[in-house]
Amino acid sequence: MALTGLQIQKLLPKTNCKECGSNTCLAFAMKLAAKKAELSECPYASDEAKKILGAASEPPVKCIELGPEKKLKIGAETVLYRHEKTFVSQTALAVNVNDTDSAELIDTTLNAIRDYVLERVGEKLVVDMVGITQKGSNADAFAALAKKAWDTTKRPLVLRSADAKSLAAAAAAVKGSGSVLVAATNETAELLKAAAIENGHSLAVTAADLDGIVGLTAKLKNDGFNNLLLSFNTYSLAEQFQTNSIVRRAALKDEFKPLGYPSVTFIETDNIFDGTVAATTEISKYGGICVLPNFDPAQLAPLMTLRLNIYTDPQKPIQVEPKVYPVGEPKIDSPVFVTTNFSLTYFIVSGLPHILIESRCGFLLSLRLSFPSPRSAKSTSIH
Ligand code: SF4
Repeated sequence: MALTGLQIQKLLPKTNCKECGSNTCLAFAMKLAAKKAELSECPYASDEAKKILGAASEPPVKCIELGPEKKLKIGAETVLYRHEKTFVSQTALAVNVNDTDSAELIDTTLNAIRDYVLERVGEKLVVDMVGITQKGSNADAFAALAKKAWDTTKRPLVLRSADAKSLAAAAAAVKGSGSVLVAATNETAELLKAAAIENGHSLAVTAADLDGIVGLTAKLKNDGFNNLLLSFNTYSLAEQFQTNSIVRRAALKDEFKPLGYPSVTFIETDNIFDGTVAATTEISKYGGICVLPNFDPAQLAPLMTLRLNIYTDPQKPIQVEPKVYPVGEPKIDSPVFVTTNFSLTYFIVSGLPHILIESRCGFLLSLRLSFPSPRSAKSTSIH
C-alpha cells in the first residue's frame, strides 16, 4: 500500500536542512508520496527509510539528469494525461550533425544551435542538446566532432554510433558533459556501461523489440546502473506513436520498472513536414529526447511553442508579476494601459510597442479598448 506524505515524513530526519531542494522534510515527503522525487535526494535518509521506502518512492518513470550540472531533466512523469495533474519534464529537443557532414555545415550548425534563442511569453527557449551521429568509420573523427560540439555549444550531447568502441572513445572525449550514449545492445552493454560510468554519461539501450529492451534494462539495473534511456526500433509514425504509448502505460499503470525510463528518438527524414509531424508526436506523446535531423528555425519555433503549451501546469495559469512595466521608452505623459497579468494578455500588448506609442488611436479602435483618461478612474482590461 502506498504511504502518505505524513507516514513518509516520520521516516525522514526531520531536520529541515533543505539539501534535497525542499524547504522542509514534510514538503519532501509530500513529493515522495506523489512520486515527484527520489529518496536518494536526501543525503541523510536512514537505512531504515531506504529499506521501507526504497523503490516505492521512485517515480514510475525514472528522472534522468543531463548536462555537467545535471540541470536538464527528462522523465519523472507520473500521469498519462496532462489534465490529470501535469507533465513534469518537457521533451528535450536536439539538432543532429553527422561526422560525414562538410566542415562548413558542421560549423554553421553548431554555431546556430549555440546562438538560437526563441522568446515566448517571457521565457527564453534554446536547443537543449546536440545529436552527433557516426556515419563514417573513423573513431577519432567521431570523437573529435563530439569534443568540438561540446566546446562550441556547452550543451549535453546525444552520441549515436553502431560501433561501441567509437562510442566509448567519444564518451571519453566529452567526459563530464552529462551526455547520452546511443545505444547499447546485448553484445555491447558491458563495454558501454563502463564507458558511461567512467565518463559520467547516461546510456540508451536498444533491441529488436520491447522484450529485448526489457531484458537489457532489467540486467543493467540489477548490475547497479540505472541511468538508462530507451531507444525503440520503429518503422512508421503509427508504430512510433503506439510504442511510446504502450511503454508509458506499462510504466505508469502497471508500474513495470523495466520500461520506466524516458526514450530517445532520432527523426530520420529530411522532409520538414514529415519530420515536424514525427517530432510533434514525440512532444505530445511521451518522448524524452527528440533529435531533429537539421537546424531549421521554421521547424524549431512551432515545436518549441507546442512544447511550451503542453508542458505547463494546467492548474496554474502562466502569469507575469503584477507591476508597472515600461513598453518602449515611455515618457512622463505616456499613456498607461491596464491589462490582466495573464502572460498571454501581457505579451500581446507589450509585443506591439510601435502601435502603442506611434498610433495609439488606431490600436484602441481596432481592439475596442480604452485607456484611462487623467480624469477618469475607469479602465478596460484586455482578455
Ligand atoms: S535533505 Fe533530508 S533531512 Fe534535509 S530537508 Fe530534505 S528530507 Fe529533510
